[in-house]
This record gives sequence, C-alpha cells and structure tokens, in this order.
Amino acid sequence: MKIQMARRISLALLSVVCALSTMLLGQSQTPSASEKTYALLPGLDKSLMDTTADRCVNFFQYACGNFSKLYPIPPDQSSFDTFTIVAEYAENQLHTMLEKAAAGGASRTANEQKNGDYYASCMDSTAIDRDGLKPLQPELDRIAGLKSTSELPELLAHYQLINVNAFLNFGEQQDFKDARKQIAALDQGGLGLPERDYYFRTDEAAEKTRKEYVQHITNVLKLMGEPESKAASDAQEIMQLETALAKVSMDITSRRDPSKIYHMETVAELTSLAPSLAPNRFLDVSGAPMVTELNVTNPDFFKGLNALLASTDLQTVKTYLRWQLINSIPGVVLPKAFDDEHFDFYGRKLRGQPEQRARWKRCVQATDDALGEALGQVYVAQEFPLANKQATLQMVEDIEVAMGQDIATLDWMSPATKTRAEEKLHAVADKIGYPDHWRDYSKLTIVRGDAFGNMLRAAEFENLRELAKIGKPVDRGEWGMSPPTVNAYYNPSMNDINFPAGILQAPFYDAKATDAENYGHIGAVVGHELTHGFDDEGRQFDANGNLSDWWTADDAKQFEAKADCEVKQYGAFVAIGDAKVNGRLTLGENTADNGGLRLAFMAFLADAKRKNIDLEQKQDGYTALEQFFVAYGQNWCGDTRPEQLRLQVQTDPHSPREVRVNGVVQNMPEFGEAFGCKVGQPMMPANACRVW
Ligand SMILES: [Zn+2]
Repeated sequence: MKIQMARRISLALLSVVCALSTMLLGQSQTPSASEKTYALLPGLDKSLMDTTADRCVNFFQYACGNFSKLYPIPPDQSSFDTFTIVAEYAENQLHTMLEKAAAGGASRTANEQKNGDYYASCMDSTAIDRDGLKPLQPELDRIAGLKSTSELPELLAHYQLINVNAFLNFGEQQDFKDARKQIAALDQGGLGLPERDYYFRTDEAAEKTRKEYVQHITNVLKLMGEPESKAASDAQEIMQLETALAKVSMDITSRRDPSKIYHMETVAELTSLAPSLAPNRFLDVSGAPMVTELNVTNPDFFKGLNALLASTDLQTVKTYLRWQLINSIPGVVLPKAFDDEHFDFYGRKLRGQPEQRARWKRCVQATDDALGEALGQVYVAQEFPLANKQATLQMVEDIEVAMGQDIATLDWMSPATKTRAEEKLHAVADKIGYPDHWRDYSKLTIVRGDAFGNMLRAAEFENLRELAKIGKPVDRGEWGMSPPTVNAYYNPSMNDINFPAGILQAPFYDAKATDAENYGHIGAVVGHELTHGFDDEGRQFDANGNLSDWWTADDAKQFEAKADCEVKQYGAFVAIGDAKVNGRLTLGENTADNGGLRLAFMAFLADAKRKNIDLEQKQDGYTALEQFFVAYGQNWCGDTRPEQLRLQVQTDPHSPREVRVNGVVQNMPEFGEAFGCKVGQPMMPANACRVW
C-alpha cells in the first residue's frame, strides 16, 4: 500500500480506497452492446459540438452538446467521456497483446509468460467457479482459529500484504518533511463504504445507500453459508463496528492538508497510544525493515481503534474480519455468485451501472494492476511512437517557460517568494511516456490456472516491494502509473509531472491536429499537472519535495484570498439534486484546471508568434483561438449516470466535467474575447477568480 498525495488529472477510481476500485469491476459472460469499439477522436471534433448553443452562456454545451447523442453511456459504464474512449482504445490494444501472450509458445519472453498466464488464468471462469471459496479457506480458518483479540496484530499485518485493509492501512511513503527519506506509515482504514461521511449523512440517498450496504453484507454472508437470520444480524454488527471506525476517521477534505496527516511517532509512542495494536509485534511480521519511528497519519483514529478493540467481543471482530476479507478480494477471481453480488452493490447501486463489464476487459485491467510495467514494456514497444514523446517534451518545456513568465509578472507576489517559486519550477522533473528503467518481476511466480493464487502473489510482491524501500534512498525515476494508463499526475514529494504513454494519443496529442488543438488538449493537461505544484496543497512543498513553508506571510495571505474566490465560485455549482460541488475538496483540482489552461494559452501564443500564425485566420471554420478553447472543452466531453455523479461529488477531488469547462473559461477573459462574449454574460462574469 502506497501512501502519498499524488494529484491526477482525472478518474476518481484511483484515488478511492483500493478495495472499492477492484470491487467495481463487474463480470459479464456474454458479449453485449458494450463490446462496441471506438475510434480515437480528432483534435477538434465538430460532430460533438452543439453549435445552436450560445457559447457565451454555456460553453460546455457548445463544445460537447452532441457527445452523449453520439456516445451514449454504454450499459457497462457509469460514465463515458473523452478519456474513456482513449482508455477503451488502449484496452483493445492490450487485449490483442494479451490474447497473443496467452496463446503461449516457447518464444515467449519471461514478461510475456507472466502477462499471458495471468490473463489466461483470470479468463478461466470455469476453473474459478469450480474452486469456489476453497482458495480462501486457509484465510477463513485463520480467522476461525483466533483465540483472542490479542492475536490480531499478526493477522492485520499479514492482511496488509494481500490488500485486506481491515481496521487500518500500513505502507510506505516519502517523508513529507525530508523527501530523501522513505518511511513507514500507518493510516486509518477498514471501511466498506467509500468514505467516512457515508456513515453519517442524513439525506434520503445516504439512508438508502446504508440500507443497501447492510443488505449486501447480508447477501454475501449468506453466500458464505450463514443462515438468513444470522447473516442479517451479523451484517448489523459489522455496520455498527464500521460506523464506530468511521466516527474516529478523518474526512477526505481534511486529508488534503498534509500537516493533518503527518505525525511522526516512535514505536514506543505508538505503543502507548494504541497498546492493543502491539506495534512491535505488528511491525515484526509486517515485511518492513526494522523501524524505530513512523508516520501515524491520524493519531486520534488509533486512539479510537484501541478503545474499540478493547470493547468489542471476539465474535464480532471475527465476523467483521470475514467480511473485510471477502470484500477485499477482486470479484473477478471469485465464484460468479460472489462476483455478481459485489457488482450489484458497488456497480449497480452505488454507481448506477446497469451491466457488468465483459470479463476480458476486467482481466486486461487485472493484469495491468498486477503487472503494470511488465505489460507496459510490451505496450510501449508496440504502440507508442517516439515522435509523441518528443512532441510532448517540447510542449512541456514551452509550458514551463510560460509558468516562469507568469511567476515573474505576478503583481501580488513579493520578489522573495518569486525566487523560491522559480526555484521550485526549475526543479520539476518531467517524466514522459514510460520509465527509463523497468521494474523487475523475475521473483514473481505466475502459474497458469491459478487465478486466485496469482492475485495473492502479485499483491504480496508489490506490497513487499513498497515496504523494502523504507530506509533506502528514493528512486527518482519511479512511476506511480503504468504506461498504458490514460491519466497523468503530479507528486509533490517527488516534485515531478508524469504523463504515461496512454494519454499521449489523440485527441490529447495528435500529430495530425493543429498546434492550437494540441495546446488546448495535452497542453492544458501538462499545465494542470504543473500547476498542482503550486495549488493550495502543492505550494506547501518546496523544490526538493519537502513540506516546508517557503512563502512570506503576506504572500500566503494573498494566495489564500485568491483561492477562497475559487472555493466560493465552485461551491455554488449544483452537481445533482441537493448535492453541490464541494469547493474546498475540489480546490486543488480547480486551481490546476484554471492555471493549466492559462499556461497552455500563454505557451500557445508564444508558439504562434514564433511560427507567425495569424490567430484570426479561420481554418475549417474556426480561428486558432477558437480551436484552442473548443479543444480544451472537448477534453471533458462526456456524460455521467446520476448515482455516479453523486458518488463523485462526495468522494472525488475533481469537479464534474461540465464544471471543469465552464468554471475555467469563466475565469479567462481571453475566452470571452475570442468568442465575442460581453462582460456580464455567464461565461464572462465581471468578477472572475484567478489564482495563477
Ligand atoms: Zn489534478
């Protein structure tokens, strides 16, 4: 388990607890409408636009109004957008590669053997169904054999290695205060609902979700062999225990503040805080090297957990552990009845997704999760043109120059803070496409026909790899996403921006598109990640990735006032029904969206000047400036099911996609000027916000 603050361009799934994202993958045995294949979109796609919409009133509608007619959300998705089209495209490429690797043959490389056999085992649903819960039996026996809660520390440490986050999370992180060091970290955990507030909200939708969750637990326990009445009462007990854990957990908005989740404690201090966790014994069997101190992210949680363990009887703890265990196993390696039941709650009810995804898609995803760089290495060799890497690198450099100019000309920042900001900007590491050194999987055994065992061994391999970093120097070349991933991220401890090969294709980057379109697409993505280094969270880290305040008090005050403007602006957007956008939770992403588009715009103007491009000259009906903004808008074309939208505003630091377009262009008078809007129209308000 990696504990870090990396900020991504998109996709909530990755930032929510691991158990949930794996549970979400449903299963479908029969091909359906979701088997449709998609072609990559062009740099500016006129067919997606609704040109009857007034672009000064609702630019999202103008740029993307036809998207959902052309691309209705497929039944196996909870939302569908520009990113999904590229992800589906990459998924098809990986599918072809994996089918070939699965077909076997003596000529397979070691990586191809692992990729192919992992995938083939996952696809073998007959064997998985035949085995039933047998592969899980040793773990279930271990729970049944617990004689006292004092035996828990060893069991919980073991669970961490196989991604069962009962009661807590344990892992490795870069030390926030000294990014050269890698340390152990102990974090809150143990909930089956997406976030702590799910246990306490009093609105109708929240009450309904809790009722459905308890029913889901009941159904799973019945499948495990419990009689109906016992399953129902056990589910109530589990819900009570999780609610007590939620009560002492920190909410997601608070967790965005690094100082709130950083409390270095010696093992002795942790022992006096939570003696029932027996930290010495826990650490001894955790797989981590010897540690004398660690980050206890949320001491109040462990104080609460300690009290809870003391007051909960052994039988209830065992019931809870059985539930946490089964709920943490990816549905795709469980018998169909369990898989279907997982999907029914986490997919259908929580996200509104009508159908499970095809098995092959889930097995491609599972292989990528388990063997990301082994699969990615083959993917990059076959599918990633070197020209895309070079073009992206050029654009990244242009955008960094733009940010340097932006900082130099800010009228609100003192020269002292500017010097530090420039220092940080120049230290940002640009990582494009794939890692320079590939991860070594030679010690991981993948056995054909053992889907469950492969999953366990891969989890353990990865968690031990993470833990082994503790006390060692940081590998600055490491990546936190696999190469085929259609996403990007900034990591404040590394002070690096990362663009996997998966996102460096059309429409984000397209060699056939105009410069204006490419700057509006991938340029804005690059600007977004770079701005994360300077958003309300990123700005607290310095050039070396250390949490240290490099701002003068007055500059910090100015920054906060500017950020507050965005908190209010975004907090006024209604996402769905009674649910508004959380302006605090989304502040960092909104700041990155706004700064990102501005930087891309500056870099584009500089590029156009260099190349002597006439910005007013129309090409195919649109001026270069119009192309730039429409391309930006089309990054976020898409549609979301209502259940998923509610989940998103309650758990995801990213604003809904319509807001990511309209909220940003509202803050850029250059947009209104390009489209002939008048001050006072919705897309050109008199009082715009600007942080960067
Ligand atoms: Zn982001």
